[in-house]
Amino acid sequence: MKAIQVQRAGGPEVLELTNLPKPSPGAGQVLIRVEAAGLNFADILYVAGEYLVRTRYPTVPGMEFAGVVEAMGDGVEGLYIGQRVAALGGSGAFAEYAVVQARSVLPVPTPMSAAEAAAFPVSYFTAYFALQTQAQAKPGEWVLVQAAAGALGTASIQIAAALGLRVVALASSEEKLALCRSLGADVALLNTQDNLVDAVRQATEGRGVDILMEVVGGAGFAQSLKMLAYRGRLLVIGSASREMAQMYPVSLMKGNQSVMGVWLTPFLSDPAEMQAATSFLMPLLTSGRVRPVVGERFKLEQAAEAFRFVLSRKNTGKVILEP
Ligand code: NDP
Repeated sequence: MKAIQVQRAGGPEVLELTNLPKPSPGAGQVLIRVEAAGLNFADILYVAGEYLVRTRYPTVPGMEFAGVVEAMGDGVEGLYIGQRVAALGGSGAFAEYAVVQARSVLPVPTPMSAAEAAAFPVSYFTAYFALQTQAQAKPGEWVLVQAAAGALGTASIQIAAALGLRVVALASSEEKLALCRSLGADVALLNTQDNLVDAVRQATEGRGVDILMEVVGGAGFAQSLKMLAYRGRLLVIGSASREMAQMYPVSLMKGNQSVMGVWLTPFLSDPAEMQAATSFLMPLLTSGRVRPVVGERFKLEQAAEAFRFVLSRKNTGKVILEP
């Protein structure tokens, strides 16, 4: 089968199209024919050896995809051959076939295309765990979404709206801001503008935001802290700048503010939290009230081009790789 393999840490240049044996599922595993895979910023970090888990080379990257069940190992229940499914977690999705643990398989909400189904797991589960589970958002609160036109950003705007939150979206172009508004952002601001802190305070009746989804990190982190309202929660979800951030914890005391981490991976092995998230997300996705934004689509062979595209900040929604 065709697969994108990586032998050493690096950027898009280390992605190699290769032929690998079709994998077979062991006990508790499922073999899925991949129809579409989502490209996440985390895949770029994983290939570069900069992710939160250690990358063991050689590896086939790709942590979410949608496809059709082709075979099942012993002990797998509740799935059938030919079923359309999505899958989340680990690696191996940038290939024609992938084997995953049965517990990593998710149902595909009926109206979804393969590309949409590949676009939802990472972004929508993360948005839910960030806003609901970690920040315990309350209707009417203000949330600031960084990189709001991206994969996680577009999902976050939609989940925030479904939770009754008011959204300030930040992104780097007018075209991206228009997309954010169309998804329900109440306020959309260029992240390059002068006096961004003042603009965010002005948009929120002078209070600042109750929740801030920080995905860029680096020098802008200090600015994010200044945008928080009294009792605001800053969620550390990513560091797309790949730069260190500095903070003085004592500065949180005056406003009874919090900074907390959010990582999807540990939630995947917490059945109660996964159940809560699935029960919230599936009706929204099935009814079409919430719809993944599918961005540019690339063939598997063009994986390096797709990586460069995301790194150049050109994408809106989720970039998709198709075998
Ligand atoms: P996106 O589709 O959002 O693409 C990344 C976006 O980040 C860019 O479009 C750009 O938006 C913004 N950005 C800001 N600075 C940079 C930079 N120096 N280089 C590249 N992009 C930059 O990607 P994802 O939705 O996959 O991920 C977004 C963030 O969320 C990442 O930090 C990722 O690691 C994190 N994440 C974390 C998860 C978790 O479990 N904690 C799960 C999923 C995502 P703009 O041009 O508008 O500024």
